[in-house]
Amino acid sequence: MYRLYYLSKWVENLIMANKTFFVETYGCQMNKSRSEHIAQVMVQNGYHLIEDKKRADILLFNTCAVREHASEKAISNIQKTIKDLNKISRHPIIVIFGCMSQFLKNRLVQRVPGAQIVIGTSNIEQIPQYLEEYTRKKKKILDFNLPSTSQVFDERGYLRNSSQIFTFLPITYGCNNFCSYCVVPYTTGPQRSKPLLTILKEIEKIIQDGYQEIILLGQNVNSYGLDLGLKNGFEVLLQTIDQNFHDSSIWIRFLTSHPKDMRPSIVDIVKNSPLMTRYFHLPIQSGSDRILAAMNRGYTRDHYMGLVNYIRQTLPDSGIGTDIIIGFPGETERDFLDTLDIVQEAQFEQAYTYIYSSRSGTAAYQLPDQLPLAEKKKRLQLLNQTLSDIHQIKLKAWVGKRAKIMIDQIEGLNASGRTTDNQRIFLPNSNLFLGQVISVVVINTLKGKLYGELVLS
Ligand code: SAH
Ligand code: SF4
Repeated sequence: MYRLYYLSKWVENLIMANKTFFVETYGCQMNKSRSEHIAQVMVQNGYHLIEDKKRADILLFNTCAVREHASEKAISNIQKTIKDLNKISRHPIIVIFGCMSQFLKNRLVQRVPGAQIVIGTSNIEQIPQYLEEYTRKKKKILDFNLPSTSQVFDERGYLRNSSQIFTFLPITYGCNNFCSYCVVPYTTGPQRSKPLLTILKEIEKIIQDGYQEIILLGQNVNSYGLDLGLKNGFEVLLQTIDQNFHDSSIWIRFLTSHPKDMRPSIVDIVKNSPLMTRYFHLPIQSGSDRILAAMNRGYTRDHYMGLVNYIRQTLPDSGIGTDIIIGFPGETERDFLDTLDIVQEAQFEQAYTYIYSSRSGTAAYQLPDQLPLAEKKKRLQLLNQTLSDIHQIKLKAWVGKRAKIMIDQIEGLNASGRTTDNQRIFLPNSNLFLGQVISVVVINTLKGKLYGELVLS
């Protein structure tokens, strides 16, 4: 009996030999989704995803290159992980992939000598084959090919595990815009749109799997379909989704809207579809026309405010979020004041603010007049204060209002959910369940948060 038990354990260990993996993800939602895809590809090849980094036989690091500071932090995290594991006699196979590998190539290989497989953004679906090859030959594998103009991923699906409620669905890969500060077009290749039919099939599966919210992802979702020869392809996509799934209660969100390609017709479709959430992520980057031109963004502040005004008029209850970069080369005090000014004018519901990070290979890398870091930090602090003051006023205006929220977090006696315009509201957990859509009334705001209670009717 015992012998049989040990024999079966021995067989199990043999099968599992070098078969468990752990994925660590840096950067944007696109990367989170990419990690879910890679996890699926690994599982399809017989590997087992585990949550304990220390026990994994293979560590996969999915990296980001957008800002230098975050990239450097990722490198030191990876180095430290390897060192700590070696100290306890663990020697997993280290795989680094994604934008940072694509950006740094051999420089990354030199800086993380403990990595056995380093690949960029292209042949990531080959990771299981590369692992096999490495196990056989014990020779480092490097692959920095760029994605071809036709490469889209995902036919093999995703091991969706970011949330039980919402899930990501990339609709485009790559980017054609070449904003002068940005590495993304260099690390991810040209825009490739996923065929409409593939997207519809994926949505059907996501709904069957019980998700309540889908976040359509792309660096510039508004240009969806241009590479497929579709004009106003994003409108076509949203309308088709609306027609095919209007009987479901799925919420559809999309990120990111590029102001140069965002159009009133997209806002109109959102207005007329019960599935589309009322939130637009519309990165302004700067409020100065001079800086916007130097950034190669392709719009002016007037154009931007035209879009904001159209959204506010068409959908008064919607939320607008943005990204802002402080300290672009040559940004004067006047340019910065223009940014503060547009922030006041647009009254953003959400904002992500960044200090400009100079990235080699981009057009802006060559520009003179890089501002001292202390000045960039001072401006960032002023900008964040302005945004926070606006936010406080907006939160106060919520008190007394009723709203519908979808519960997406429950921790013991506390729960919270988001409105369709992306505002989180906390409330006591009275037999609530994840994914439940309920009506609440906001009763208080404290330390930047909204608190409400259930409305029974
Ligand atoms: N495609 C999206 C943004 C992707 S990167 C868009 O066009 O809006 C996410 C954000 O990172 C950008 O909006 C920008 O604000 C910031 N970012 C990109 N490159 C940067 C850099 N070199 N320095 C600082 N912030 C940067
Ligand atoms: Fe970068 Fe601009 Fe492309 Fe966004 S649109 S990913 S900021 S180049």
